[in-house]
Amino acid sequence: MNVYDSHRIAGILENRGMKEVARIDDADLVIFNTCHIREKAAEKLFSDLGRADLVKQARFLERKDTIIGVVGCVVQAEDEQVFRRSGAVDFALGPLAYHRLGKVLDDLLKNRDSLIIDTEFPPESKFDYLGANKAEGVCSYIAIQEGCDNFCTYCVVPYTRGVETSRPIDDVVKEARKLVADGALELNLLGQNVNSYHGEDNNGKERNLAYLLRELSEIDGLKRLRYTTSYPADVDDDLIACHRDLDILMPYLHLPIQSGSDKILKAMNRRHTKGQYMEVVEKLYKANPRIGFASDFIVGFPGEDDKDFQATLDVVDEVKFITAFSFKYSPRPGTPAAEYPNQISDKVKRERLKILQEKLFAYQTDFNRQTIGKTVPVLLENKGRHAGQLTGRTPWMQNLYVCADGGYLNKIVDVKVESATMNSLSGKIIGK
Ligand code: SAH
Ligand code: SF4
Repeated sequence: MNVYDSHRIAGILENRGMKEVARIDDADLVIFNTCHIREKAAEKLFSDLGRADLVKQARFLERKDTIIGVVGCVVQAEDEQVFRRSGAVDFALGPLAYHRLGKVLDDLLKNRDSLIIDTEFPPESKFDYLGANKAEGVCSYIAIQEGCDNFCTYCVVPYTRGVETSRPIDDVVKEARKLVADGALELNLLGQNVNSYHGEDNNGKERNLAYLLRELSEIDGLKRLRYTTSYPADVDDDLIACHRDLDILMPYLHLPIQSGSDKILKAMNRRHTKGQYMEVVEKLYKANPRIGFASDFIVGFPGEDDKDFQATLDVVDEVKFITAFSFKYSPRPGTPAAEYPNQISDKVKRERLKILQEKLFAYQTDFNRQTIGKTVPVLLENKGRHAGQLTGRTPWMQNLYVCADGGYLNKIVDVKVESATMNSLSGKIIGK
């Protein structure tokens, strides 16, 4: 979501006639787009700002002005603290206000001594005020839903990104058509809980994600559809049917469970038990046996004992996730769990994360190895690190390398997989 937002912000600046530069020393304007989900992400901002401040001062000595802005969720959470924690910052915009960037820059240029902050949740949708989204190559993102009403007890998203809103069907379809006309072959629909999508159609009727996927699957020239991230309790039968019916929908689903223990899931205020999660997984397997599951895990949530942690390890053995993101629980200011009395020590969190990751990485490596000898379709989207090498993704989001000339770039090719590690595959093109 942040990568997508950053591209949109870059688009606003390009429309003002600005150009991207390769080095921060050459930049008249520097914008940090920030994440507040875990403490580490927020801390990184302030150390980056320290470095940017040095550049700003050096440029000042050369009589060059540098405007520094911070946008995104840290601004929403820290508000004016951002200015207090770094003297380098000229403006700060929350994640729902960045479409107002043009006006902010005009105001700043009129009065270079002002500090501007906007952390409103504006009544208008930012998407109505942004120009066209440009295809970022053959794989493009479209944000279709933002915000969250779930209030998991550990999570800042409902506070930083606001209530859940969905873009209308027609807006999304129009944007998708334009991206495909510009060369996109794969579209990835984005939302904090993308499958809670409930956008209005032209008659004002609310439609679900399955409806939208079916509409998008009709677009001529579009080859692949993905969506991320999904909330387990909101996977409905219509969506499951899409995985049975739509070839264009990739057999990969990021479906975070967080923990395998019902006690912890309850304390997290997740609206699913482990059993309900497994039911969804089984129904999806039935709809499409080729589907691979990815997940997110939090270890060391307050009150998590050895038995709870074991339940998380067990669920990994049951589902055999093909990839996963796993984190130590990070207490976030203003969230209920940060106040829970039974916090877990960092040492235990670290130990549990190590054990969990060893298991997750083993399954990921296994899955990749099982691909050896098989032929898989790969969308070659980038040049590799070495000359004559191209990289792309399999339907299961695996990174794959091939030796091929640039003529194969931006194409879907059949590749026979020859070797596999935890993080990537390599193989030979055997056909287009
Ligand atoms: N809406 C998605 C997840 C969005 S946040 C869902 O509910 O599944 C992305 C991931 O960050 C979460 O899945 C969770 O694993 C992790 N996360 C969020 N808050 C966290 C915290 N306080 N500490 C550690 N990890 C956290
Ligand atoms: Fe955060 Fe996801 Fe829970 Fe919403 S559903 S509060 S985004 S973890």
